[in-house]
Amino acid sequence: MGPQKGELLKKELNIFSFGDLLTHFPHRHIDRTKINFINEINSNSDFVQVAAVLTNFEVIGQRSGKRLVGYVKDKTGELELTWFQGLSWVQKLLETGRSYLVFGKVTFFNGKAQIVHPEIELLSYETNKAKDFLEPVYSTTEKLKVKGLGARQLAKLTQVLLMQVREKDVPENLPASILQPLQLISRFDAYRKIHFPQSPAEYEEAVKRLKFEELFIARLRMHLLLSQRHRFSKGVVFDKVGDLFNNFFNNHLPFALTNAQKRVVKEIRNDTARGRQMNRLLQGDVGSGKTIVAVLIMLLANDNDFQACLMAPTEILAQQHFSTISALLEKMDVGVRLLTGSVKTAQRRKILKELADGTLKILIGTHAVIEEVVQFKNLGIVIIDEQHRFGVAQRARLWQKASIPPHVLVMTATPIPRTLAMTAYGDLDYSVIDEMPPGRQPVTTVHRYETQRSRVMDFIKAEIDKGRQAYIIFPLIEESDKLDYESLMLGYENVKSYFPEPRYWISMVHGKQPAAQKELNMKRFVDKDTQLLVSTTVIEVGVNVPNATVMIIESAEKFGLSQLHQLRGRVGRGADKSYCVLLTSSKLGNVARERIKIMTSTTNGFVIAEKDLELRGPGEIEGTRQSGALNFKLASIVQDRSLLELAGNMAAKLLDDDPDLLSAENLQLKNFLQQQKGAILWSKIS
Ligand code: ADP
Ligand code: MG
Repeated sequence: MGPQKGELLKKELNIFSFGDLLTHFPHRHIDRTKINFINEINSNSDFVQVAAVLTNFEVIGQRSGKRLVGYVKDKTGELELTWFQGLSWVQKLLETGRSYLVFGKVTFFNGKAQIVHPEIELLSYETNKAKDFLEPVYSTTEKLKVKGLGARQLAKLTQVLLMQVREKDVPENLPASILQPLQLISRFDAYRKIHFPQSPAEYEEAVKRLKFEELFIARLRMHLLLSQRHRFSKGVVFDKVGDLFNNFFNNHLPFALTNAQKRVVKEIRNDTARGRQMNRLLQGDVGSGKTIVAVLIMLLANDNDFQACLMAPTEILAQQHFSTISALLEKMDVGVRLLTGSVKTAQRRKILKELADGTLKILIGTHAVIEEVVQFKNLGIVIIDEQHRFGVAQRARLWQKASIPPHVLVMTATPIPRTLAMTAYGDLDYSVIDEMPPGRQPVTTVHRYETQRSRVMDFIKAEIDKGRQAYIIFPLIEESDKLDYESLMLGYENVKSYFPEPRYWISMVHGKQPAAQKELNMKRFVDKDTQLLVSTTVIEVGVNVPNATVMIIESAEKFGLSQLHQLRGRVGRGADKSYCVLLTSSKLGNVARERIKIMTSTTNGFVIAEKDLELRGPGEIEGTRQSGALNFKLASIVQDRSLLELAGNMAAKLLDDDPDLLSAENLQLKNFLQQQKGAILWSKIS
């Protein structure tokens, strides 16, 4: 290939090397292995290939309707061929009375089968038979097509390449202990057969082998990281359960822990007592009671003479944690302080000093706690609430605070499906609170059209008159910032007309307000000075107002499932029955309709997360967007769930038997892992 085409391949398709060309997989195949009879063609026919005699052809029509129509005949019938372009060229090519091999997609026009722009070649001695493999079709671009690098030419290139590729160029990386029981074909075979299979079954074999490899390698890497951290990392030791923990547990717990909470506390205690560093993801749906777990673990750290730190993504959340936790620990002799961006200098100085000399045991804050100036005397654990709001770089900075890295517990209320969690976060230890505290009434969720808004407003009124509060949420989508702001204002005016002052008071919170004003408006709602909170999604995470019983979501079709679930989680936090109303326009797309259906049929965050994954695919799921661990070429963790499960089990078993891949049989696998570059595993916090 000349340099010009080479450049274009790099630019357009990112094909720089033979390897890149080899992994530019076809997106489908055309079956030219069979020759069809013309009378076999029916309305279900897709691509067909016939061997037939050209009986007649002529140009008909005028100007834009001008076309070349030809007829071919085999012993079973006649088929029409049509060309709209390159008429004179085709005319020169064709000759009546001769036999051709004709291939193309069948379309029906006026009830009659025809092939538009067929591939046609003379039936000669060589072509007098069907192809013995399926023809690959590759994605290409307009620019490449113009330069003669269309799908067919890419197929030629690949074919030429494959003729020169030897087994040593594509060495096997999986051991026989895996290939044999799963009956996987070799890597070399797979790369040939995915391009030029002799049958659909052969193609499937190739795809299965390569998908398995992708998933297996990904899971193996995660297992390796996990087992290496388990074996080699150094961590501070929390082996004492002392006075603070026991005193709180026995005398000050405001409620009995659920079994799930107990189990998780035990898991964390075991993990932090071993002398290795804990990196743990704690998942628990909104309201499942993660805070109390955090408190117990922080006291455990204190009992072992270490400081603890809890980080929240926003100032409001940090403040709420601070007041909740201060209240819980009120009767105990533990200092708790709040450090956020708005803490005044004098107070800040005092906190910094107490942290440095070790007198302050528990710090709660926003990302302000990871600024350079904040130095702990002996930080033992960092607990991060709502992890997806923290960037990787921010997390990494926490490490520099201590010579032995502190334990890390990441708590998330965004349920992640198991398959996804294992793939994206398989290097983390993992705990789940899969049980709600007793006595919760599920939030009743209904779908209403915007035309029914006045009835919805009447319903809110009735609840407010009972002394309750309500949220009304408007979408805020970054790209159309301005439009959404306008619709929020319009919505606000509209709400105001239903709920006039001084009988009713409304707080409004949105992203354009200065932080102080946002806080103030929020606080008025928290303090029950206002009955209604009109807001964009800034309140999405963590805000706790147990007296609020109604959540109205305007333009609910514009929200994703996990967002809707998070928003709904703002109500149903107190003793009173709560409601969520999804308001939509009457025109709904299929996906939006499906989302609404899911929301009105379940309140289980894990079920919702599974559905979300099915509807959107893994790339869009909150918190995993940047995860390189999910960039598979062929495999999909949604469609290939069972293969993923299998790959995970096989990877775990392999490492059980040979943790460092030292056996001769696993040598090729080890080499392969070492050669693979650029696999950034961002879920690894350390
Ligand atoms: P989240 O997991 O969303 O952070 P929280 O920790 O804020 O949940 O807990 C939600 C509410 O449930 C809080 O009011 C908390 O006091 C209460 N709660 C937590 N655990 C229990 C329990 N075991 N029994 C009863 N109430 C509980
Ligand atoms: Mg919480």
